[in-house]
Amino acid sequence: MPDKKLGLYIHIPFCMKKCLYCDFCSGVYGPEIRKDYVKALTNELRYQSERLYDYSVASIYIGGGTPTWLEEKLMDRVIKTVFKYYNVEPAAEITMEMNPATASESQLFSYHTLGVNRLSIGLQSSNEEELRTLGRVHSFKDFLRSFEAARRSGFDNISVDIMTGIPGQNPLSLKKTLSDVFLMKPEHISCYSLIIEEGTPFHDMYGEDDEKRKRGEPQEFLPSEDEEYELGKTAQNMIKAAGFSQYEISNYAKLGKACLHNVGYWKRTPYLGVGISAASLIDEIRYTNTRDINEYIRKGISSNFPLYNEAEALSEKKRMEEFMFLGLRMTEGILENDFYETFGVLLDSVYMLPVERLLSEKLLKRDRGRLFLTELGADLSNYALSMFLLDKD
Ligand code: SF4
Repeated sequence: MPDKKLGLYIHIPFCMKKCLYCDFCSGVYGPEIRKDYVKALTNELRYQSERLYDYSVASIYIGGGTPTWLEEKLMDRVIKTVFKYYNVEPAAEITMEMNPATASESQLFSYHTLGVNRLSIGLQSSNEEELRTLGRVHSFKDFLRSFEAARRSGFDNISVDIMTGIPGQNPLSLKKTLSDVFLMKPEHISCYSLIIEEGTPFHDMYGEDDEKRKRGEPQEFLPSEDEEYELGKTAQNMIKAAGFSQYEISNYAKLGKACLHNVGYWKRTPYLGVGISAASLIDEIRYTNTRDINEYIRKGISSNFPLYNEAEALSEKKRMEEFMFLGLRMTEGILENDFYETFGVLLDSVYMLPVERLLSEKLLKRDRGRLFLTELGADLSNYALSMFLLDKD
């Protein structure tokens, strides 16, 4: 196996129905488009493997969209193409995202047999009213069924996504969701707060409310900033009390079950993204594929490569910024010595002022050459991490 490590992200942009809050590059498409997309995708995988023959793949993340909504034979083709053309490490972590309403037990069994060894299930809430508000296609019962089917199919590493700040959510309903999830004994939990994104139906419904909330004015539907903070804290405390360790601002894992693929992003190890909108970081160049599915299919099917429409060589400043604000998302933080080894200059020579300021504000802590956010720093992470931007204008 080559020494150089790579994370591989595969974007499957198909969903059964678009959730009302979602601004991911995904949508509802017919079977012809799905088939053509997979043809383009496998062509892109093959093309990229020729450039990256001297890397071994340490992790694969099949995300979307809803990968489990793709026809089994098409997914089968995608996975087999990866194994055919890449040096996939025998112990590679291979994750597939799953929406509870979309996968049959036989599908899960087949993906597990093909090498997928981790599932990330988007639940968001166990409260039916909240699921309806979000426009999710599944019920809590669907989640229970699919979780049990996943266990029977051999998955011993399952993550569950939970959301806070849902319109109508209250501490009681959140606690109920968490207790329901703990009963299933997942290995990992991701907990994000709802963001009202422009261009989504939620923005039409709650955009004004969101603006009021940001201005500190009373709002009608969304939890206030204080209530949202409380919901986040309730989730954090309950998840930690249930034996998960928080290894990143929004991610919690049982011992040894942190998501290696995401840790790779935060540590800035090289990654390749294939599919529409997917980003790559190779040799400090950030590539971003087109978001236009028709263009992607047209070029991919005729092997008219490359498929990215943006390539940005990252300046040293940009790399330093990313090193800091991605590294500090993790609970373990960053090693000052790693900064020196990466950039050949002392961290203090670049960031002495923000570090001193955040230390004095008790948002950052320094311990034996390691810098990491305190609990308060993680609560105020947007502010704390923005201090590491070098070009603020
Ligand atoms: S299933 Fe996921 S990707 Fe699809 S619309 Fe819902 S949130 Fe977005």
